[in-house]
Amino acid sequence: MILNSANGPVSTDSLGKTLMHEHLIASFPGWQGDTSCPPQDKRAIIERCVDGVAELKAGGFGAMLDPCPNDLGRDVDILGEVAARTGFNIFFAVGLYMDKLAGPYWKLKLNMDPDGVQRLADMFIKEIIDGVGSTGLKPAVIKVATGEAPFTKFEERVMQASVMAAVETGVPIITHTEGVDGDKQLATLTGHGIAPGRVIIGHSCANPDHAYHCRIVDAGAYIGFDRFGIERIRPDEGRIASMLEMLAAGHGERLIVSHDCLMHMDGALFAGGAPPRSPMHFSRVLAPKLREVGVAAETIDAILTDNPRRYFEG
Ligand SMILES: [Zn+2]
Repeated sequence: MILNSANGPVSTDSLGKTLMHEHLIASFPGWQGDTSCPPQDKRAIIERCVDGVAELKAGGFGAMLDPCPNDLGRDVDILGEVAARTGFNIFFAVGLYMDKLAGPYWKLKLNMDPDGVQRLADMFIKEIIDGVGSTGLKPAVIKVATGEAPFTKFEERVMQASVMAAVETGVPIITHTEGVDGDKQLATLTGHGIAPGRVIIGHSCANPDHAYHCRIVDAGAYIGFDRFGIERIRPDEGRIASMLEMLAAGHGERLIVSHDCLMHMDGALFAGGAPPRSPMHFSRVLAPKLREVGVAAETIDAILTDNPRRYFEG
């Protein structure tokens, strides 16, 4: 199957090991007004992204998905430049972030427009079919994000538009959750008509509840264990314990492993800078630990290679 990447169309056969939730760059809208942060050097940012991707390539990865939504600093020019310079398969998303942290522009726009859902779906579809602006580059997935249930009207409307675009174009959905209510998010999405197997419920490894994880995969979705290394939300020890429970329960084919690393974040959100993290962390540090407790190398390989490909191929 042919997928759209930031380097143009690529075959799913050529992906190899794939990380499904890593970012080149992201930012929270409003950072431009932070005069306390040093001026940003765009060329230096691009070089950092090129180096980060080179590290993934050298580490045996063949592809990554950057699911940054449109209102969180998505920069398709940079995605395209880094993909072209590295020859790496970088997939990207179209979509909007959750109500709590979404760009106010989109909340206003959607709230003021009675036809907002259709118009938003039309924009998503246009990006997927025609490409983004003058780059011509096309998103491979739609990003959906919610906070805790009950979801807000904004989130409900964005979910509806996202499914309309997904069904129209055949592109799958990847989500952000706050580690809770992913089962409700999935029910909302499938209620609008997308097949559960076309959805990854993201950031589920933040939740220690095995029954919660089972509800998501039993409903037919993929489950994102995609924040390895974010110790302040949940230590890896717990994330690995949850992963082992899922493997023991026979759900290995539904696991999507990643880190939610940022190669660059605009502004200066974290005092003293964000703690450094690497998208090689799972392979370098955690996979050997899984091997030690009896997880077969083939199982780990299948999670990183076969699951992303199966999700994309639908
Ligand atoms: Zn993310």
